[in-house]
Amino acid sequence: MLALYKELGISDQVVELSNHVIDSLKDRFDEIDANAEYNQLKVIKALQSCKASEACLLGTSGYGYNDIGRDTLEEVYANIFHTEAALVRPQITCGTHALALALMSNLRPGDELLSPVGKPYDTLEEVIGIRPSKGSLAEYGISYRQVDLLKDSAFDYEGIRAAINDKTKLVTIQRSKGYQTRKTFSVTEIGELIAFVKSIRPDIICMVDNCYGEFVERIEPSDVGADMVVGSLIKNPGGGLAPIGGYIAGKKECIENAAYRLTSPGLGKEVGASLGILKDFYQGIFLAPTVVASALKTSIFAANLYEKAGFAVVPNGTESRHDIIQAITLTSPERVCAFCEGIQAAAPIDSFVTPQPWDMPGYDAKVIMAAGAFVSGSSIELSADGPIKEPYAVYFQGGLTWPHGKLGIMKSYQSLLDRGLL
Ligand SMILES: *Cc1c(COP(=O)(O)O)cnc(C)c1O
Repeated sequence: MLALYKELGISDQVVELSNHVIDSLKDRFDEIDANAEYNQLKVIKALQSCKASEACLLGTSGYGYNDIGRDTLEEVYANIFHTEAALVRPQITCGTHALALALMSNLRPGDELLSPVGKPYDTLEEVIGIRPSKGSLAEYGISYRQVDLLKDSAFDYEGIRAAINDKTKLVTIQRSKGYQTRKTFSVTEIGELIAFVKSIRPDIICMVDNCYGEFVERIEPSDVGADMVVGSLIKNPGGGLAPIGGYIAGKKECIENAAYRLTSPGLGKEVGASLGILKDFYQGIFLAPTVVASALKTSIFAANLYEKAGFAVVPNGTESRHDIIQAITLTSPERVCAFCEGIQAAAPIDSFVTPQPWDMPGYDAKVIMAAGAFVSGSSIELSADGPIKEPYAVYFQGGLTWPHGKLGIMKSYQSLLDRGLL
């Protein structure tokens, strides 16, 4: 083993240190495996009760009328998330698109959108119109209000009460921290926030940006009152196999609105050929619980390794997890780049390239990304990204298998060590 690690560029010192850290994490890994077992059963039960069949794995072309595989998959998602309906489509191009779709289809001119959890994910700023953009909600006369979090990421309940008014139609709650150093909310915390909002106005639609959160816990935000949960298939629920796609699961009316917006008024869910993609969607959701477990182990290992090296990590080494993201504040652009180079060098694909910071569409600072992925840009695969701005934090996530996640983190550490940055 040591010889193979050495051939992959990992010194005996880093192997020993890593194994020492991992030895202390056994109980946490056992808990992750137990959650994966629970969620695996949940998914299998959904596949069985929706009668997923061999015919479902085939695709349609053209209009895609009566696509049994597509329609059954949407039932499977609704069953897993315990919702009335779901929209799961390759025509939803990414997470931002799924979120924009959920918002644009359920808001009308004159309505107001409220984020009670501070600034939303960077790409949503243009969707909402916080940063002016063609076709934003703001251009359609939909206003936006935001209530920032209090110290320690606590909800500002009084601020939220004051922000809710007659125009408030939809509340958006981002579960994961995204590119911020706030904490990620547990499903239970999200449930408390939703209950508070509904106690003021029960008709307000509560949407949760569920990106990176799926299968981390045994329950999902839709189990605690969310009217819509939204995410990307090249993150957790695609299990590393889905090559594209997004989902919205929720109340029938919300999903219908989204479907009419995705395709066309009058057409809705009835059209949208699945082409040849469904086998990967089915197998992906089947694999997702154990893939998420591998990603979680990778995150916890990294948190503990880098905490030991003196860096601030969010979540810290011992905190409970509510998404697969790990933030490490590396405090310098050199370290952010060295970290990403290490992750890239451990990749199965494109291990020989050097990632460079670039002006990524939708983001306001240069971003460096390490991704040697089978699916371009997939962040359920081991990947790291860091905006080149204060506090020079790197955010990494994924790992389809735990041995690969472990190698990637070791390689990042070795990269910092070799450059004298530790
Ligand atoms: C990734 C992500 C998005 C956007 O998803 P893309 O697929 O990158 O467009 C939105 N919100 C959160 C919290 C995310 O992590």
